[in-house]
Amino acid sequence: MKEREKEIIRQIPAPLLLWYRANKRKLPWRDDPTPYHIWLSEIMLQQTRVEAVKEYYTRFINALPTIEDLANCKEEELLKLWEGLGYYSRVRNLQRTAKTLVLEFNGELPSDITLLKKLSGIGEYTAGAIASIAFGKRTSAVDGNVLRVITRLTENPTPISDTAYKKELQETLSSVYPNEGKDCADFTQSIFELGALVCKPQTPDCGNCPLKDICQSYQKGTQKKYPVIPPKKEKRIEQVFVFLLQTPNGFAIRRREQGVLKGMNEFPSKVVFDETPKSVLNEWGVYEFTELKRKNYVHIFTHIRWNITCFWVYTDEVPFDTYDLDEIKESISIPTAFRQCMELINEKV
Ligand code: SF4
Repeated sequence: MKEREKEIIRQIPAPLLLWYRANKRKLPWRDDPTPYHIWLSEIMLQQTRVEAVKEYYTRFINALPTIEDLANCKEEELLKLWEGLGYYSRVRNLQRTAKTLVLEFNGELPSDITLLKKLSGIGEYTAGAIASIAFGKRTSAVDGNVLRVITRLTENPTPISDTAYKKELQETLSSVYPNEGKDCADFTQSIFELGALVCKPQTPDCGNCPLKDICQSYQKGTQKKYPVIPPKKEKRIEQVFVFLLQTPNGFAIRRREQGVLKGMNEFPSKVVFDETPKSVLNEWGVYEFTELKRKNYVHIFTHIRWNITCFWVYTDEVPFDTYDLDEIKESISIPTAFRQCMELINEKV
């Protein structure tokens, strides 16, 4: 990173803090920013929009108000609280870490960034966010928002996937942090906030930006060139059959033993090549059945696109556990990729 860029970064804190204090949004985790609240909100916000997280966050904190409650929560209840947020490894890691905190840290998160990074699901970014926002430490947290703001401010052409640049930025930014305490907490959040409200990906609102006087890309009209994003890898496409297998005792549900969403509940499914619905059902020992309805839909994962055909099928017996429809709706967690099939039933019931 050039000296000129470091000089620009040194000029960020004062105007940005002033702007943040006048413009910050009211968010539930900001009302009472305990380490637990900040940790949970940061994990939920990974891959999920703020507006979507608000409701999940409030429900989760009401159900599990302490780290100890999280550590002791039954898996099914935990997954139900997370249902629809996706990326379920996040909530499993949350609970794993909560158990470690209860056993080794008296049920509290440590303030030391090195200790934070040793905990499951807490990487460089999340550790920086917790240390600065919850403990007021002089530690930056560099995510996509921060990279966008800084590469625009400095006209830096390094692709944002470059880990060496990210590390250097994290260190440079940490070195310009204000004194320990509330200013540090606010500074971390002020960059996030600027990225979310003003320096937006497609439509930066430069006229209302508190940093426009130091922003190189604004002055040259090159905002849209930054950040430099490397081309995305093509997603693998899979054809998937999902079966809503209805019996006199309810609908079949089983645990996924492999592949994406391993360990989660599903309506029995199979990635198919040249199989037919009949041949898949026969594999499971289901020979006599009536197909009631079918529909196609798509579900996108990070690296895979599923082209799903869902079949609603009635049969007398299945080699899986079965559950009543109300029970499935109220207390069994099923990832969205499979839950969408229930629209077939809803259309009829
Ligand atoms: S002036 Fe525009 S491009 Fe520069 S930081 Fe502000 S919003 Fe982003």
